[in-house]
Amino acid sequence: MPAFQPNTILHTADALNEQGLQLLNKFPGAATQEVKQHNRLPEVDMPHYKAKSDLLVLGRLKTRECKWSGRSSDYIAPSLANGCFGGCTYCYVDRHKKINPITIFTNIDEILETVDRHVMAQPWPKQPNQTDPYYWTYDIGCNSDISVDYSISDSIAQAFRFFRDHPRAKATFATKFVNREMLAFNPQKKVRIRFSLMPSKVSKLVDVRTDPIEKRLEAINDFYGAGYEVHVNFSPVILYHQVNNDFRDWEEDYRELFRQLDDATRPEVKKQMQCEVIFLTHNKWQHLANLEINPKGEEILWAPNLQETKRSQFGGINIRYEHEMKSEMMNKFVGMLKEEIPWCGVRYIF
Ligand code: SF4
Repeated sequence: MPAFQPNTILHTADALNEQGLQLLNKFPGAATQEVKQHNRLPEVDMPHYKAKSDLLVLGRLKTRECKWSGRSSDYIAPSLANGCFGGCTYCYVDRHKKINPITIFTNIDEILETVDRHVMAQPWPKQPNQTDPYYWTYDIGCNSDISVDYSISDSIAQAFRFFRDHPRAKATFATKFVNREMLAFNPQKKVRIRFSLMPSKVSKLVDVRTDPIEKRLEAINDFYGAGYEVHVNFSPVILYHQVNNDFRDWEEDYRELFRQLDDATRPEVKKQMQCEVIFLTHNKWQHLANLEINPKGEEILWAPNLQETKRSQFGGINIRYEHEMKSEMMNKFVGMLKEEIPWCGVRYIF
């Protein structure tokens, strides 16, 4: 994982609590600038990727609520951070934003209090469901990559400790990075890390500035050994057909990926591993932006003959694979998965 060294920190006045000041001290060489709102930054004349490397934003998360998910987790926790160092070309976190630097919310105490109040108001014991048989699960990484944020701010380790010690709540997040600093912390299986996987050649095209698939596969046993629960996240599944000898049909590449996962994972890790599968959704605005930034990756993401428009769970207009064809492909995906890695349960697929 590349080191993050911002040269400018933008902060709101109310972000400079103890946590915020610690972050300013952590990057003494960075210029600082006060801004009125963390989510309405002043115009900066800087390309997309450069803003992700050079800027850090500190803010206070004012609206703190736990939202129902029912997919990766029971609930989505209020964001600990927003934005990401990576530049995945399909990333919904980057959609609608000209620049999307990493924002750390420094009011971690208030955020964790919100989660505590929320979980203590849920029925207990919890009815087992696909997200977890025992604990209420909270996704803490829906708007950022927690592995990256962990090295920037102590607030993430604080959140890990909160979930480790909580009698009813468990944290979960998907990641495309391998942060070995996290191995020094033992969450006692109360933090579930979900490594995102896709065929390596495709990842090289679209998972911009993230860690290679091979590294993510190599990390699985180590994270389990350190005390994390480890699942995998096949996301996004991109449908493509053979375009040359490097790019076979998506089915063949996924079979190979399943075999790589099978080889990489120790038996005791397999026993606890499950997966989730999410087919690509895309977006017209993002497609146009990608044509400027990364036209090669766009060749496999944008397939109007296979895609249709849909309204997302949160109201946005996106593009997804045509409904009937997608359900056929989902069956195919699960069929291949069962043949190659029958030990890996599918928590959900959509
Ligand atoms: S790593 Fe995750 S959050 Fe970061 S750009 Fe990629 S998909 Fe988005």
